Amino acid sequence: MHELGIVTHVMKTLTDVAAENELTRIGSVTLEVGEVSGVIHEQILDCWDYMCTKRGPLFTGCKLILDTIPAVTYCSSCEKTYPTVQYGRTCPHCGSGETWLLEGNQCTIKEIEAE
Ligand SMILES: [Zn+2]
Repeated sequence: MHELGIVTHVMKTLTDVAAENELTRIGSVTLEVGEVSGVIHEQILDCWDYMCTKRGPLFTGCKLILDTIPAVTYCSSCEKTYPTVQYGRTCPHCGSGETWLLEGNQCTIKEIEAE
């Protein structure tokens, strides 16, 4: 499951950060989730809550905040950008299919709030 992998990865990173900074509790973590990253918000939140109960005191009551990043596609024919979700792979400016995703595919830790 995609979401479980992300949660496991985020928790591992947080555990390392906590160890380095001698944190005993993490209040919340903000993830930047791209619109076309394929992450299902409900699933990752469920997964997070479940894993928090398994991972001990560091994660007790730790909140996961999801920050959606809009997906943007770049057209190499007319050198313009456009919203990916609305138009897909075809450029709405010139009709070209010579396009690629600029951003919106990520799932990265943006902010960690310690208690
Ligand atoms: Zn174009």
